[in-house]
Amino acid sequence: MTRMLIIGPPGSGKGTQAERISERLGVVAISTGDIFRANVKGETPLGIEAKKYMDNGDFVPDSVTNKMVRDRLNESDVENGFLLDGYPRTTAQVDYLDEILANGDEKLDVVLQLTADDEELVHRLLGRAKETGRSDDNAAVIRPRLDLYHQQTEAVVAKYAERGILTQVDGIGPIDEVTNRVMQAIKAAQAA
Ligand code: AMP
Repeated sequence: MTRMLIIGPPGSGKGTQAERISERLGVVAISTGDIFRANVKGETPLGIEAKKYMDNGDFVPDSVTNKMVRDRLNESDVENGFLLDGYPRTTAQVDYLDEILANGDEKLDVVLQLTADDEELVHRLLGRAKETGRSDDNAAVIRPRLDLYHQQTEAVVAKYAERGILTQVDGIGPIDEVTNRVMQAIKAAQAA
């Protein structure tokens, strides 16, 4: 049973690593970005609302995001643990997640942060923009997304560091190598 978070700036490869961790640990990976994108594609009311923010590189408001995460964490496939990818991104979301977990008498085991410097991230995101056509991977929106990460999400990382459950992994390098580092870091954190 593992309950964990993966945090990283846009372009750090957290989605890719989250899928691999999920397979190896046998826990469900929940990506708020993926849920939003699926809703945008399906043109649901949630998707129509979220798209306005996503296209500008802004965060979707907590009033929308928090409820969506709470509902998802109440589904039955989460009973054996979970890996949250892309949530929490603000300290207010940390507080909300704390409440959800406290209500279920649960706590986080590991918070994994993938690190990479901004220049490498911009380079990767521009490459991804060409491959996937993701509407928020374009030069105008990449910088604001990175700025938002520094302004808001680093405070989230600091909170978990204070609690002693943060483990940091260098996200630069071949994907398999990063996965090896990630799995070792998780093992070490669980043994601690
Ligand atoms: P991601 O795939 O994690 O990079 O997320 C893509 C976009 O979805 C973000 O740029 C935000 O607009 C939105 N999003 C994802 N997770 C959150 C969150 N926890 N809070 C607010 N907005 C989010």
